[in-house]
Amino acid sequence: MRLVLLGFPGAGKGTQAKFIAAEYHIPHISTGDILRSAIQKTSELGKKVKNIVADGRLVPDDIMTTLIEDRLKQNDCQHGFLLDGFPRTLQQASALEGITKIEGVIDIELSEEAVIERLTGRRIHPASGRTYHLLYQPPRVQDKDDVTGEPLIQRPDDFEATIRQRLNVYQIQTSPLKAYYQHAPAICYMKINGAEPIPQVKEKIAQALTKLSHAREKID
Ligand code: ADP
Ligand code: ADP
Repeated sequence: MRLVLLGFPGAGKGTQAKFIAAEYHIPHISTGDILRSAIQKTSELGKKVKNIVADGRLVPDDIMTTLIEDRLKQNDCQHGFLLDGFPRTLQQASALEGITKIEGVIDIELSEEAVIERLTGRRIHPASGRTYHLLYQPPRVQDKDDVTGEPLIQRPDDFEATIRQRLNVYQIQTSPLKAYYQHAPAICYMKINGAEPIPQVKEKIAQALTKLSHAREKID
């Protein structure tokens, strides 16, 4: 399965990606997690992108494309992968076509008002990228990661002013990808209502992916 997740910041991509990756035994590649880890390590990449990410702007396409090209060459991607956060522009989508053949796009839809509520309540475990929500997906122990017990943090770009900036950026630069993938030949575009509770969204995605697997088996 070579899959792409689309959807507003906060639509639930990371949350659902964990389920899909476990079910299909494919790596979950989150460009946001990769960039945050580079920023934390103050690597060359991290230094370049720190202010851009903090402001809710997009990292330049050439940097992102090289990053994804290198990541997809790794062995664990041989039998598929799930991209979360890439592509985010038409240029990135077109570069991705030159690197690999995407089979399915899962587009999780959510309104802007719901996004603000989701993102202001989001807490993350930075080392693993595990995501929680104060109301909808609380950790077992307050402010602690369920697996390691380490502290959870609020992402610096999850405050309201930066969220609004990220939504604007999404509308202008990323939303054209919807039509792009809806009309792309040989790519299955799956629209999912992200406003339902987490287990229901998970179920709808599982149903869509089962259909896609059956369609693939027929072609094979
Ligand atoms: P969210 O899922 O909340 O939208 P991400 O974790 O995917 O956020 O991304 C966080 C930030 O990392 C983005 O706001 C942007 O600055 C940067 N980023 C991530 N992926 C890309 C990409 N494909 N192109 C450009 N910038 C990116
Ligand atoms: P994205 O990766 O698209 O930015 P996340 O998966 O990080 O989004 O989800 C954003 C926030 O909303 C997180 O705090 C997460 O726990 C919560 N969340 C995700 N899906 C749902 C849902 N279906 N209902 C309620 N809250 C959700």
